[in-house]
Amino acid sequence: MRTPLAAGNWKLNKTVPETCRLIVELLPGLQAVSGVEIVLFPPFPSLMVASILLEGTGLHLGAQNMYWEVKGAYTGEVSPLMLKDFCQYVIVGHSERRKYFGETDQDINRKVKAALEHNLIPVICVGETLEENETGRAAEIISKQVKGCLTDVTVTNGSQMVIAYEPVWAIGTGRAATAEGVDLLIRNVIRPIMAGMLGEHIAQSVRVLYGGSVNPDNAAEFFVKPEIDGALVGGASLKGDEFVNIAKAASQA
Ligand code: PEP
Repeated sequence: MRTPLAAGNWKLNKTVPETCRLIVELLPGLQAVSGVEIVLFPPFPSLMVASILLEGTGLHLGAQNMYWEVKGAYTGEVSPLMLKDFCQYVIVGHSERRKYFGETDQDINRKVKAALEHNLIPVICVGETLEENETGRAAEIISKQVKGCLTDVTVTNGSQMVIAYEPVWAIGTGRAATAEGVDLLIRNVIRPIMAGMLGEHIAQSVRVLYGGSVNPDNAAEFFVKPEIDGALVGGASLKGDEFVNIAKAASQA
């Protein structure tokens, strides 16, 4: 019912020529993967060339961030209107945006609404810090973030948004969460909150990804879990063979 998703967040990596090389390297392997939706998230300057290279390949493209206003005096920002013609997805609320750029749940909520208004699929990131995890507050923090990000949001179809559960302590650390723990958190916390806010049917049809040190060796453990609908991959998405193998693992699960 929920198509698995393998998403590659390139973060602040890859120039335009490097983007071209990585996409050319990825394409044969990724196009051979069936039953998995694949989305690449290169940095802004590479989006246009990536959209040309991905045209007709069946792969999707997304931006790593955007502002909620459509246009105006907001120097340095990028609007949904500028993305919607060649991106299908946009990441909002990544923990690095929250940590280094002070983004709040309220900001992210505005971005979610702006994305939906312009037919972009927001990949809404939530996740607790190490300290919050170690003090047993993961469920409380995730509840607060999901509620804050989804306030007054309406969707008519679960395919219009994606949630990515990314514990901050697992991102880029090589220390992934356990698949069992993630599966339980999605079942007991994330989907029930979505059900309360968006209705049970939507809650069951929104894809919820796991992100945090996913690699070809551990990917299958996550993908076989019933509540985990794919992965948001950082570091390993920059290595052609690794990202292809993660997508293959999603296909086999
Ligand atoms: C991310 O940046 O969303 C991420 C999950 O990174 P990594 O896979 O490198 O932990």
